[in-house]
Amino acid sequence: MLKRKQFAVIGLGRFGSNVCKELYQLGHEVLAIDANESIVDSLKEFSSHAAVANATDERMLKSLGLRNFDFAIVAIGEHIQPSILCTLLLKEMGIKQVWVKAQNIQHFKVLEKIGADRIIQPEKEMAMRIAHQLDSEKIIDYIELSKEYSIVELVATKKISNNTLVQLDVRKKYGCTILAVKRRDEVNISPLPNDFIYQGDILVVMGHKNDIKRFENRGM
Ligand code: ATP
Ligand code: ATP
Ligand code: CA
Repeated sequence: MLKRKQFAVIGLGRFGSNVCKELYQLGHEVLAIDANESIVDSLKEFSSHAAVANATDERMLKSLGLRNFDFAIVAIGEHIQPSILCTLLLKEMGIKQVWVKAQNIQHFKVLEKIGADRIIQPEKEMAMRIAHQLDSEKIIDYIELSKEYSIVELVATKKISNNTLVQLDVRKKYGCTILAVKRRDEVNISPLPNDFIYQGDILVVMGHKNDIKRFENRGM
C-alpha cells in the first residue's frame, strides 16, 4: 500500500459494512457512519472511528470533519432520498470522490446528475458476473469495462494446450489481448510471445465482447 487514505462510509447495511471492514483491514483510516446506534456499535472494532449520525444533517457531517476526507462511500441503498441528499452535501463540501450505491435506475440517474463520481449497483453487477460464469463453463470471471468491452477469465482447454501465444495468435485472429496467465498460485502478468499455455491455465482476456465470445467458442 502506498498511502494511507481517509475514507468515510455512510450507511452500514450489508454493503457498507463490508466495504468498511475491508478498507480498515487494508490499513486505511475509516470513519463509519449510520443512523442506527446498534449497527454503529457493531462496527466499532472494524473501523477507526464509528459515529451515530443522520447522513442528511449537514452540521453533523461537518462536525465529524467530513470535508477533510479523500473518499466517501454512500451506501444508504433502500432509502433513496437521504442517499441523494447526502451525496449532494458531500459534493458541496468538496469531497473529491463520492461513490454511491444505487438502488434502481431512477436513483442511478439522479446520482449521475448531481455529480456522484461512481455509482455502484452491486446486485446488478454481481448478477451479470454470475450469469456469465453460468453461461459458459470456460468463464471463471467477467468484468464489464463498457457496453462493448470486457475482461474475462477463461480456462484454457485441451485444444489450445501446449501452444505458445505466438502459435495461438489470439490478437490477430480474434482481436483480443491476453493480459495475464494464471497457473496455480502464480500469475504471469506480462506474458511473452513464446510463453506456453497449458490446459487448466486461466487466461485473463480483454477485448470486444463479440471478439471474446468468438475466441471462447471457436478458438479454444
Ligand atoms: P444492503 O447492503 O444490506 O442491501 P441497503 O442498500 O439495502 O443495504 P439499507 O439497509 O436500506 O441499505 O440501509 C443501509 C444503512 O443505512 C442502514 O444501516 C440504515 O440504518 C442506514 N441509514 C438509512 N438512512 C440513513 C440516514 N438518513 N443517515 C444515516 N444512516 C442511514
Ligand atoms: P435483492 O437482490 O433485491 O437484495 P433480496 O435478496 O432482498 O433481493 P427478496 O426481495 O426478499 O430478496 O426476494 C427475492 C425474490 O424471491 C422476490 O421476488 C420474492 O417474490 C421471491 N421469493 C421469496 N420467497 C419465495 C418463495 N418461498 N418462493 C418463491 N419465491 C420467493
Ligand atoms: Ca438491500
